[in-house]
Amino acid sequence: MAVARVQSRVRMPKPPMILKPVRPGTVVSLTDRDARRPPALHDRDALKQALAHEVEALGHLQERLFAGKQHAVLVVLQGRDASGKDGTIKNVFDGCNPLGCRISSFGVPTELERSHDFLWRIHAAVPPRGYIGIFNRSHYEDVLAVRVRKLAPAKVWKARFDQINAFERMLTMNGVTILKFFLHVSREEQKERFIDRLEDPEENWKFRAGDLDDRRMWGAYTKAYQEAIWRCSTAWAPWYVVPADSKTVRNYLVTEVMTRTLKGLRLRFPRVGRKVMALKAKIV
Ligand code: ATP
Repeated sequence: MAVARVQSRVRMPKPPMILKPVRPGTVVSLTDRDARRPPALHDRDALKQALAHEVEALGHLQERLFAGKQHAVLVVLQGRDASGKDGTIKNVFDGCNPLGCRISSFGVPTELERSHDFLWRIHAAVPPRGYIGIFNRSHYEDVLAVRVRKLAPAKVWKARFDQINAFERMLTMNGVTILKFFLHVSREEQKERFIDRLEDPEENWKFRAGDLDDRRMWGAYTKAYQEAIWRCSTAWAPWYVVPADSKTVRNYLVTEVMTRTLKGLRLRFPRVGRKVMALKAKIV
């Protein structure tokens, strides 16, 4: 505990670049160029060091979040196949205590899930106060995959933007801080990652034939992501577009947004009263 307190006071180097939330109502550019390593983050060694600092800082902040039980944090990760959702979870939260993290993956809805409204399974996975909830895919699939693969009429998925905004607003009014990240990879990078994946016997189990169907619909997904981000980046639940061709850049930028946001919550360890402290004398 004492060590954690000392470390949390260590001065962080000035971040070389930070991500800004997408301004509500803005159509973001999602070209291949936007996925590349930003020039401000060209120094790989400095970036690795900055990432290590941020990961450690996030761990300390998470301890406070967990101890205080005043806020919940919900991290939504969206991105195309091989954009690095799994890698982001593994690296960004490396300094956090798994006890305080709840990871949920959302695949094709089951029959039971489909018999409910689309937010039913999502709401059930929202973290309680004290926890960081991480969504590997999310309710946004219901305006992305559902739209592009034509799984529901336009009237149905179009109505969902307002429903999502209202749902997220309700959550934030109930103590949940929401951060949404679109991990933006270029077409070329995705191709390389697919090939690497297939060539690696420890990775090729991750490959699904359906990944290629989605790749063929690249343009339709771009349009769907642009509209989802445009309509649902709100003051209370902002979207961040992460240039994700470089894994270190991706991890650094996501971690930095998280530490910055958690610092803004002014998390404190609960104060222990005198009566409890007096029990020290009774420890035999
Ligand atoms: P990933 O592709 O996320 O690494 P995976 O290959 O293991 O994961 P699953 O997690 O089983 O696959 O499912 C992911 C798939 O489920 C994606 O193709 C996604 O588009 C699809 N999916 C998720 N939510 C929905 C939804 N609400 N409606 C239709 N398809 C969905």
